[in-house]
Amino acid sequence: MAVRKITEYPEEVLGKVGQPVTEFGEGLRALCADMFETMYDAEGVGLAAPQIGLNLRLFVMDCEGIKLTAANPEIVSTEGEQSGQEGCLSVGKVPAVLVRPQKARLRAQDENGTWFELDAEGYAARAFLHETDHCDGKLFIDHLPKLRRDMVIKRFKKEKRWD
Ligand SMILES: [Zn+2]
Repeated sequence: MAVRKITEYPEEVLGKVGQPVTEFGEGLRALCADMFETMYDAEGVGLAAPQIGLNLRLFVMDCEGIKLTAANPEIVSTEGEQSGQEGCLSVGKVPAVLVRPQKARLRAQDENGTWFELDAEGYAARAFLHETDHCDGKLFIDHLPKLRRDMVIKRFKKEKRWD
């Protein structure tokens, strides 16, 4: 296992629609082990493949008791509304308030290629939505009004320079 380098805004791969995962088994398990290690090392609750530079529809998460690998994820349905802070490892965890559905149902394949569906609400539903967005080449800041989006990017760049 190894901690991978996290790609950051505005690297191109973060804006690309991911390619479907077609190979399951040993190689994918090894990749997901690296993704979990990278996510824990960065103290995140979710990490998608584009965030380690791979143009793939794949994410891992460990959030509010839901620990899973999701290949070829899609959001089947959503319900309600929640307003809360969200951040992203690829944007330096700079937080912004974002309204998301309160509940979400995820459909995806596990590391062996078996399809599953899972419901979550609150913060875990937010993680489903955030990570599935990554697989579609979308960042959480893309949901923000332009002014607030620019503010997050500005703060991220400023903090980076101070590293
Ligand atoms: Zn993210």
